[in-house]
Amino acid sequence: MPVNCGTMFTVKNHLEIQNNHLIIGGADAAELAEKYGTPLYVTNETRVIENFSAYREAFPDADIYYAAKANGSFALLRLLARAGAGADVFSYGELYMALLAGVPAEKILFNGNSKTDFELQKAVELGVRISVDSRDELHTLSGIAGRAGKTAEIAFRVNPDVSTPTHPKISTGLKTSKFGIPAEEVVDIYREAADLPGIAPCGIHCHIGSQILDTEPFIEAAQKMMDLVEKLAGIGIDLKFVDMGSGLGIPYKKGERTPTPGDLADAILPVFNERTQALGISPKLILEPGRYIVGDTTILLTRVNTVKKAAKNFVGVDAGFNLLIRPAMYDSYHYVVVANKASSQPEETYTIVGPICETGDVFAKDRELPRIEKGDIIALLDAGAYGFSMSSQYNGRPRCAEVLVKDGEADVIRSREDIEDLMAKQRLPARLLQG
Ligand SMILES: *Cc1c(COP(=O)(O)O)cnc(C)c1O
Repeated sequence: MPVNCGTMFTVKNHLEIQNNHLIIGGADAAELAEKYGTPLYVTNETRVIENFSAYREAFPDADIYYAAKANGSFALLRLLARAGAGADVFSYGELYMALLAGVPAEKILFNGNSKTDFELQKAVELGVRISVDSRDELHTLSGIAGRAGKTAEIAFRVNPDVSTPTHPKISTGLKTSKFGIPAEEVVDIYREAADLPGIAPCGIHCHIGSQILDTEPFIEAAQKMMDLVEKLAGIGIDLKFVDMGSGLGIPYKKGERTPTPGDLADAILPVFNERTQALGISPKLILEPGRYIVGDTTILLTRVNTVKKAAKNFVGVDAGFNLLIRPAMYDSYHYVVVANKASSQPEETYTIVGPICETGDVFAKDRELPRIEKGDIIALLDAGAYGFSMSSQYNGRPRCAEVLVKDGEADVIRSREDIEDLMAKQRLPARLLQG
């Protein structure tokens, strides 16, 4: 591709290149970096809606609960709430923000394998459904709801014992995983729940993992869940909903093929529809996508501090794994574009590293890229899921800003932290004040 070719072409999904610059949501990434400073998360609003709509269209009769942990930024929660999304929340913090963003309480499922009594109390008080993860939790919840004079609608988180070919740290449905109740115990615990005060069992729930790249494990999970639905129907329990969780992967590598929501629908809807029809029941299907909705919508922009030829050609940038931990934690791949040289020919092999005092602070290894110099802007693509939401201040680094772009217009949706934010909650004991 010639430099400064002037025409627009697509780099990956909704991202384009114009005049050698990377364009996101109609905005020039290098200009955004200049204007708002780096590091900087940039999210394309239109793409969030496109992804959500793809799910909606593939599953017209299901409820789509956005998994807030993938990207809990308030503007995104608000955007998705307005688009009609429910929410899968995993903490009181996520519950609070989802409600404030306008997600109706009846479209929220409170998940978690180790909830505090306070969280259960809040969920009961606010009238959201709870996915119960153990017998112990069931009894705690019954006590809490009973004392509050309320009835909690619950699902049981089922461990369907399905193995998923993904990174072991994001495989959640194995027998040995910490999540859920073994499938073979679910009928007994349902019976038990039916007699407990303050508890209205009305659904079952599973979630087998994340970044799953084929539909087979989803079919297996759907079959196992429908086996349970059938057993429960057999003892006279008519479920209101079946929540199949999520886990649909996205293509992080250019040209990688991954199932779409349509492929997922083709895989699991026949199982769900045939088996519910055979039983003469019509529970609501719920899905909880996180990564698919936000993963490819966002880029992390980071400026080159230094270039060093050593055993490798290292490019030191101003973002570290405190802002995007996926490569360090899951060995994950993020496609790299030099935002201000986006259509220049690759000339060198570079390894992109952050400034953190850890060998694992590496974003991308041995990538063929245009010649890189100090001051260039590197874009790490597909950073929208489990990016900012997993960020920290490690190594004394304030978190970066986030902007939302739409049709070329950018708005700050989270301002950059500063040194005061590092000090914000810290206190000195009196004996350390002197001297
Ligand atoms: C994390 C999580 C999700 C979202 O998973 P993705 O792979 O991001 O789509 C959905 N449901 C539950 C219960 C989860 O823990």
